[in-house]
Amino acid sequence: MSKVIIIGAGGVANVVAKKCAQNDSVFTEVLIATRTVAKADKIVAEIKEHMPDSRAVFTTATVDADNVPELVKLINDFGPKMVINVALPYQDLTIMDACLETGVHYLDTANYEPKDVAKFEYSWQWAYQDRFKEKGLMALLGCGFDPGATQAFTAHHAKHHFQEIHYLDIVDCNNGNHGKAFATNFNPEINIREITANGRYYENGEWVETQPLEISQDIYYPKVATRKSFVLYHEELESLVKHFPTIKRARFWMTFGEAYIKHLNVLEGIGMTSIEPIDFRGMKVAPIEFLKAVLPAPESLAAGYSGQTCIGVQAKGIGKDGQPKVHFVYNVKDHADCYREVQAQGVSYTTGVPAMIGAMLMLNGNWMQPGVWNVEQLDPDPFFDAMNKWGLPINELTDIELVKD
Ligand code: NDP
Repeated sequence: MSKVIIIGAGGVANVVAKKCAQNDSVFTEVLIATRTVAKADKIVAEIKEHMPDSRAVFTTATVDADNVPELVKLINDFGPKMVINVALPYQDLTIMDACLETGVHYLDTANYEPKDVAKFEYSWQWAYQDRFKEKGLMALLGCGFDPGATQAFTAHHAKHHFQEIHYLDIVDCNNGNHGKAFATNFNPEINIREITANGRYYENGEWVETQPLEISQDIYYPKVATRKSFVLYHEELESLVKHFPTIKRARFWMTFGEAYIKHLNVLEGIGMTSIEPIDFRGMKVAPIEFLKAVLPAPESLAAGYSGQTCIGVQAKGIGKDGQPKVHFVYNVKDHADCYREVQAQGVSYTTGVPAMIGAMLMLNGNWMQPGVWNVEQLDPDPFFDAMNKWGLPINELTDIELVKD
């Protein structure tokens, strides 16, 4: 029986809103507030059309989430228990500030990133720990799939399978086809910034930096395919090695097709991925923002998307019985199924469902506790139950090493 505000109305917000509509005993009133309100109106119209039996009441509003006073007014007017932030990482801190000022809980799916520096880390948001604790409020950071479910998978490894995790490999395969020459599956600006940055992984207490896409190997993704996968830096590595100090090496792998890499190389080579603004006809424009305006919106890829995603976590170490062990926890999701269910592609779906689940586990008290938390710090069991129930069934494989040293 809770009122929530969803901020943002992109690909991920569409899924969060529709999963809240399905889960209407928890989410009774939902306000979708965003910059371009027509996008929120479209989501609500689709809910009315495709989910006429939902008892959840949806409304929409315009908000500039970079502006704290605007957010404070929006929150005070609506009176929610929590805010689900699925706008962009640039807005994390302003929304956290507004939550503190108005006394509501907070959840997001990506860690804070300043707009003018291609850098993301948890330090900015971890610095809110005392303020959230003092106010008796909870902030749950990075509760999408990766980050998010991947940390719950790691917590599950630690709780149910391992005395000590030594080697952790997070693997993310999108074996789908959207039929476009080049497009990104979530916000293009954030996606391209992530991939064109140097790679980084953790080994023996240190971060090892690589060139972008320098390290690769063929990885078998169960039920999906064997795909060339590349090491890149991903934010959950930072919190996982902090919270599981027995980890000796932690890496994140993602698949990219040849055509994708070729397009990216060309765009980078001619400066189109730069975040440095240039003068264009009297205006300051960052090339990557212009590129975003040219590329297909992630949500527009949904219709006709075929194939599957497979995201999982392989852990190696000492099992509960004291013997060496390797274990893999993963989910496979079909793009077309996502479209049929909530008019979304798989990448938005696999992010939006864990966000709804995280919010539910906060609101129903399972996870609720004051302070700033990463997903691996919370009990993975209710999260696993909810993933199985709400569309992202979890599979496990033991004693098969999918990612090699
Ligand atoms: P989109 O670009 O599709 O949507 C972002 C939405 O935020 C848009 O509706 C946009 O408005 C809105 N927005 C942007 N700036 C503001 C602002 N200042 N005020 C109000 N609204 C604003 O992105 P996605 O839906 O693909 O991604 C959403 C989030 O999810 C991102 O933070 C992304 O990094 C994260 N993500 C996390 C994943 C995970 O597994 N953890 C995986 C994929 C994404 P407008 O429509 O006007 O542009």
